[in-house]
Amino acid sequence: MSLQVYNSLTRTKEIFEPIVPGRVGIYVCGPTVYGDSHLGHAKAYISFDVIVRYLRFLGYKVRYVQNITDVGHMTDNDEDQGEDKIAKKAALERIEPMEVVTHYMMSYFDDMAALNVQWPDIICLASGHIPEQIALIQRLLDAGVAYVSNGSVYFSVDQFSGYGKLSGRRVEELEEGARVAVNIEKRNPADFALWKKAEPGHLMVWDSPWGRGFPGWHLECSAMSMKYLGETFDIHGGGLENQFPHHECEIAQSEAATGKPFVRYWLHNNMLTINGQKMGKSLGNFVTIKEMLQRISPEALRLFVLMSHYRSVTDFSDEALNSAEKGMARLSAAVQALSQRLPGAPEGSADRETTAELAEIRRRFTVAMDDDFNTAEAVAQLFSLVRLANSVLSAPNPATRDTLERLMAEFRELGEGVLGLRLKERAAGSEDLTDQIMQVLIQVREKLRKEKQYAMADEIRQMLAEAGIVLKDEKGRTTWARL
Ligand SMILES: [Zn+2]
Repeated sequence: MSLQVYNSLTRTKEIFEPIVPGRVGIYVCGPTVYGDSHLGHAKAYISFDVIVRYLRFLGYKVRYVQNITDVGHMTDNDEDQGEDKIAKKAALERIEPMEVVTHYMMSYFDDMAALNVQWPDIICLASGHIPEQIALIQRLLDAGVAYVSNGSVYFSVDQFSGYGKLSGRRVEELEEGARVAVNIEKRNPADFALWKKAEPGHLMVWDSPWGRGFPGWHLECSAMSMKYLGETFDIHGGGLENQFPHHECEIAQSEAATGKPFVRYWLHNNMLTINGQKMGKSLGNFVTIKEMLQRISPEALRLFVLMSHYRSVTDFSDEALNSAEKGMARLSAAVQALSQRLPGAPEGSADRETTAELAEIRRRFTVAMDDDFNTAEAVAQLFSLVRLANSVLSAPNPATRDTLERLMAEFRELGEGVLGLRLKERAAGSEDLTDQIMQVLIQVREKLRKEKQYAMADEIRQMLAEAGIVLKDEKGRTTWARL
C-alpha cells in the first residue's frame, strides 16, 4: 500500500505523490513568539514532526520549512485590527520587541528539544523577509487584485474566484459576518491587509513604496514558503484553527500572484482540549509545555499526543496522562530488559517464528502510518512489539543474540526513529538515577539548613543552578526541576 493523506482542500484521502519524485517540500506555520508555548503547540509540532519522520522513513528527501511569526500578528486578526501581539508584550514589559521575540523563540525551541521534535531544515522569521513580502505585494498590485488605501494595501477578495475553497466559506457570507464599518479603508469588509500603515509610535516599522508600515500576518507564509519551496509545493500544514482566515488568505495571495496552484496537500491538525473543554487563557485552563513537563516526562507527553490521530481532538485528563506514563514505562522496561539480556545471549541464528512476527508487526505499523499517519494504531503496534519482546524474554529457551538484536532494531527504527520516543535513554534509567541523586542532595541541604549552615546550603543551590537545575521550596517540601 502507498501513503495516503487526508487533503483538507479536496476533503478526501488521496494517494500522496510529490511533485518531484523522491523529494518532499513541506511548510508548517510556526508559532507567534510572544509567550511560552502551550499544549496545543505540543500537539501540532509533535504531529508534524512524526509526519516528517515517516516521510524520511519512506525514503523521501524532505525539506521542512517552518516560520516564526515575529511581526504583524494582530490581537484581533480576523478584522486586521488591534495591536501587534509582540509589540503589545514589549510595551507591557518595557523591552525591545526583538527581546520578546528572542526570549520566546528560544523558549519554544527548548520545549521542542525536550519533546524530541527535530529541527526544521529552514526556520525563517517574518521580520527577516520584509523585501520578499513587499515584492509579493507589488506583484498583487500589478495583477490588479490588491489596492492601496490610506497608506495600507488590501487584497481584494472579489478579484480572486478561488477565495473560500479551502474553508468552504463564501465571500457573501463573510461580508455579512464582518463587522460593518469597522474599517473604512476596505472596499469589501472581507478584504484582508497585505500591508498596514503604521500609526505614530508603532514599534516595528519598515519603509515600503506605500509608506512606513508593516506586513499583514498572512503574507509572510506565502512569501517565505514560495521562496524556499517554490511557487507550487507538496504539503502545507498547520492547526485547524488557522484554516480560516490564515490559510485561505495564503492561497489567495499566492495563487493570484503566480497563477499556479499554491499547495498540493493541505494537512490540518485538530485541537487539544482539557477535560473536554477548549483550552484558553480566559478559561483559566491554559497549560504551557513547561508546566506540564513538571508533572510528566517529555516522553510520556509525546506518547500521549501520538495515542490519538492528528486530525482528531486530543483530550487531556489525569487518567489519560497516567496511562501514557504507564505505557512509556512498559515500553522502556521492555527495551531495558532486552539490552540487559543482549551481552550474555547465546550465538545462533534468529528464531524463525519471532522473525515472522516482527515482520507482521512492521507491516501493520506501516499500513497504519500509510493511512494518513495513523499514529494511534502505530503506537498499538509498538505495544505488540512489547508483548512479543516480553514473551521471547520469558521463554524457557534463552533467545539468541540475533533474535534479541532484531527485536531491538524494531524498537529503534519504529519507536525511536519514526515515533521519536526516546526509549533507550529512559531504559538506561538515567532519569530515575538523576532523581535519586537529587533527593540525596535535597536531604543534605535540608540537614545543613537545620544546623544553620546556610552558606553551605546556599552553595548547593547555587551550584545546582549553574548546572541548570532549580530547587523549589514550597509548603515545607523541596522539589527540583530543570531550568
Ligand atoms: Zn502561516
